[in-house]
Amino acid sequence: PLTVITGYLDTFLGDTGRLPDNYVKPVKQMMQHAQRMESMLKDLLWLSRIESEEQLEKRDTVSVIALLEELREELSESHPGRKLEFETQSQRCVTGDYRQLYSAVSNLVLNAMKYSDPDSAVTVGWRQEGNTGLLSVSDRGIGISATHIPRLTERFYRVDDSRSSVTGGTGLGLAIVKHVAASHGATLQIDSTPGSGSCFSLVFSDTTECGYCK
Ligand code: ADP
Repeated sequence: PLTVITGYLDTFLGDTGRLPDNYVKPVKQMMQHAQRMESMLKDLLWLSRIESEEQLEKRDTVSVIALLEELREELSESHPGRKLEFETQSQRCVTGDYRQLYSAVSNLVLNAMKYSDPDSAVTVGWRQEGNTGLLSVSDRGIGISATHIPRLTERFYRVDDSRSSVTGGTGLGLAIVKHVAASHGATLQIDSTPGSGSCFSLVFSDTTECGYCK
């Protein structure tokens, strides 16, 4: 149904000269909201798929380096000019589902970009501490006060609703990250200082030598 709605709205907006002046703004707003609804549905469907796959054993050997390389390429097209630093000190792999892991890291990086100044850098790190692998995404953005942190991964929880509607998020990104972490035996750690920035880390209790990597 949303495809039909956005299809018609797109037609109207393609020829605004034929719309009464006082209709242009509302039609644009309808389009924005329909697109947001589409993103929300996509995220909800993805979340329920991750939940239903939680019981299945995922045995791909995922090269974090290859995953970050793909993400770097995607973001250089979607966000040209945005400064992204990759600090990869580990060559080790994790066991799991490539698409799920990709969506988790991508959500963290997109958040880091959304909630920080467009001129500031976002840093993605992959390092090893003993057998533990730490995949971290840090920004020098607005940060989050400690009272909000325990609730951030709840569905639709937002620190500031008015700001979030400007950034256009769905409120589901961190819920997805938390589920992906849980289904990979990992935990999500959040460190943040309001006004200075945030660091979100996926902590994998187990990593493997990359033999056959995906
Ligand atoms: P949204 O779609 O609103 O970004 P998320 O589930 O991804 O939803 O995040 C939940 C809330 O956590 C956001 O609305 C925002 O307030 C806060 N948040 C997430 N990442 C960051 C970050 N890197 N810096 C500051 N706040 C963040």
